[in-house]
Amino acid sequence: MAHDEPSKSAPQTKLVIRNIGLLLSGDLAHPVLDADTVVTTGDRITAVGKQKDIDTSSATVTIDAKGTALAPGLIDSHVHPVCGDWTPRQNQLGWIDSYLHGGVTTMISAGEVHTPGRPKDIVGLKAMAIFAQRAFHAFRPGGVKIYAGAPVLEHGMVEADFKELAAAGVKILGEVGLGSVKDGKTARQMVSWARKYGIQSTIHTGGPSIPGSSLIDKDMVLETDADVIGHVNGGHTALPDDQITALCERSTRALEIVHNGNERAALLTLRTAMELKQLDRVILGTDSPAGSGVQPLGIVRMMSLLSSLGEIPAEVAICLATGNTAKMRNLDCGMIAPGREASFVLMDKAQHSAGKNLLDSIQKGDLPGIGMVIIDGAVSAHRSRNTPPATGVPEVVK
Ligand SMILES: [Zn+2]
Repeated sequence: MAHDEPSKSAPQTKLVIRNIGLLLSGDLAHPVLDADTVVTTGDRITAVGKQKDIDTSSATVTIDAKGTALAPGLIDSHVHPVCGDWTPRQNQLGWIDSYLHGGVTTMISAGEVHTPGRPKDIVGLKAMAIFAQRAFHAFRPGGVKIYAGAPVLEHGMVEADFKELAAAGVKILGEVGLGSVKDGKTARQMVSWARKYGIQSTIHTGGPSIPGSSLIDKDMVLETDADVIGHVNGGHTALPDDQITALCERSTRALEIVHNGNERAALLTLRTAMELKQLDRVILGTDSPAGSGVQPLGIVRMMSLLSSLGEIPAEVAICLATGNTAKMRNLDCGMIAPGREASFVLMDKAQHSAGKNLLDSIQKGDLPGIGMVIIDGAVSAHRSRNTPPATGVPEVVK
């Protein structure tokens, strides 16, 4: 759903990032690349390799990474935006810009469900979805890309509604189960209509999130067969262990683990996916803003939780928040390779971490220090105001 992002207004700037100490690809198949330089033109990566082998001449901007690590910009697979950079859930301003300082460059809406007075009639919910898609396409707080316009299913929707939504540019559904459709049969029909017209679906999993929402158990998740098993670790209330393992084993859909979920269930999901050799299905989100607030560092906290307690290499945990999500969500960000979106996060181990280096510090449960965030080939943030300070910080030298 990212392929309609022309960079009409952006001049074709050539960005060279050199002296990268560790290049994290975002690709589970080979998470670390033997390279120290990335070149971008406009909003695309054009070269990745050793500096001596790459044409770094006539750069518009040159960044000395100072030996720090470069990874794809992080993707939050599950957010609930409303309008602009405001959330009424906890009445906060500037929350998306704060996530940028947690390394997030892309967000995917699981429904603009916190909108005060959210319309539940069909013409109203369609209008709101189209409005949200348009508004967040045109307005990027801090440069963060927000894929929004995610209608929730209500009874009475017919195939023509999905066709109309798709034709208007709507590409994702809000969490199935947050509207009036709470039975597997109706949900399955609507999800299949959505899929027919290229609209991706996510289902709420587990107990009710807040008063007014409701339980969705494994039988409804399996019957509905949405593309993403949203917060498989609950949001917060998780399903019993045997239901979570059944979802891992009996479905092939994406397994989304969220920050605002049950941490023990997150680790169970991770272990089960590894036993099945299906780690490529695991993707990360925050499920925020929510009752537990906003989490600017939610995605890096998930990476550290899963790496330290789930005992997976840090470079693998980073893939769950980047390349895995990009593949499952059909986005062209999330991986470091020519042709992909030029969005990056530069990190180093936090000052005074007990870890030997960045990866070891994450494996020990510390958060990385973020030194710079780049979106579409342009610097969006310098040293993060939210993470612990990075030991080494990249510098714009030209
Ligand atoms: Zn939910």
